[in-house]
Amino acid sequence: MSRHSKIFIGLILGAIAGVSSNFLFPSAPILLFLQQYITDPFGKIFLNLLIMMVIPLVFASLSLGVAQIGDLKKLGRIGFKTIMYFLIVTTIAVTIGLVLVNLIRPGDYLPAETKTKLLTTYKGQAVELKESSEKVEFGIQTLVNIIPRNPAAAIAKPNPDMLALIFFSIIIGIALTLIHEEKAKPIINILEGINDITLVIINMAMKLAPYGVFALIFSVTSRFGFDLLIALGMYVVTVLLGLALHLFGVYPILIKVFAKYNPILFFRRVETVMLTAFSTSSSNATLPTTISVSKENLGIPSHITGFVLPLGATMNMNGTALFEGVTVLFLAQVFGINLSLGVQLIVVLMSVLTAIGTAGVPSGSIPLLIMVLTMVNIPAEGIAIILGIDRVLDMCRTVPNVIGDITCAAYVAKSEGYDLKL
Ligand code: ASP
Repeated sequence: MSRHSKIFIGLILGAIAGVSSNFLFPSAPILLFLQQYITDPFGKIFLNLLIMMVIPLVFASLSLGVAQIGDLKKLGRIGFKTIMYFLIVTTIAVTIGLVLVNLIRPGDYLPAETKTKLLTTYKGQAVELKESSEKVEFGIQTLVNIIPRNPAAAIAKPNPDMLALIFFSIIIGIALTLIHEEKAKPIINILEGINDITLVIINMAMKLAPYGVFALIFSVTSRFGFDLLIALGMYVVTVLLGLALHLFGVYPILIKVFAKYNPILFFRRVETVMLTAFSTSSSNATLPTTISVSKENLGIPSHITGFVLPLGATMNMNGTALFEGVTVLFLAQVFGINLSLGVQLIVVLMSVLTAIGTAGVPSGSIPLLIMVLTMVNIPAEGIAIILGIDRVLDMCRTVPNVIGDITCAAYVAKSEGYDLKL
């Protein structure tokens, strides 16, 4: 049986077991025991195994990718295409979200008593998140921090500064092309070794994926407030419809037009990536799978996957940007605040920018979303309204986040004259 079939079975069984225990014995001690001592720790161990390898993988694959691209002109060209693609496609995603939220107006469907109940239930969590979001630096300092004074310090924290790591890795890659070949060669060999080691370890970790995915999905669904899903139904429908349109409407066009590849074949080849992104809710944790699937199943050359995909996992989050746009407008509708077209354009811009700054981890976008809310004068505590269902939306938005990176790598590969594997 193929790996993605096994993961898929893990996902379905996890969901069936989780949903039924949620309905049958929601607060039984045995369920709490299972969550606390079995599924939560096992799910976390699986996630940690994947995330543990992200820093060495980003460093090795990006500096190697840059070194293999070789000349600076070519690097500039590939870099320009990649960044432009990220920006344009992310803007398309937010626009889809904003059009839908203006048409459907989910905020008008939220009963006043549900609103008050949610605001009180999740108040504590919202206040905590608001405080942590105040510590998030966003603005000119974000730009300055991209160039790390101390690269080790930039990564040695719970939420590593991925943009700084990316900058450092690119610079090392460039320098490798500028020193004498004889001197560069041993370093390149080492980087190749690190790259291979990380992929082997990830491959071992992915053997656990069916069980890890079962545990992760069980933990989420057995605790999930399904009544909330109904209360926030129209908002959920708007987000999911937007994500689906982007994933199954925009990407196939991009794949067909820019990568000249059959979209159905494309989706079949990236199934494992979609399942991993959905169950881990993390672009970073999915990155190793994204890289190996793009190389092995789609035949994208390694200097392009090595360059585009680590960049994409950090900077290209189409699903997140769409979700942010919809959520800001939804909360504005809930609070009866009318956002003019001008302010909505600011929301588009801020959603694109904050999606670039979002960490590729579960709920990585929430602190930045709070910042956007404050910026357009919507009460930040309003985030409480959506916190209860965020994990499920997070799982869904992470899928277009990573698939968007692969569509970009496919486009760059084709435009550089490489055909994808048929
Ligand atoms: N979980 C998302 C990701 O890793 C980020 C977010 O939207 O919170 O891509």
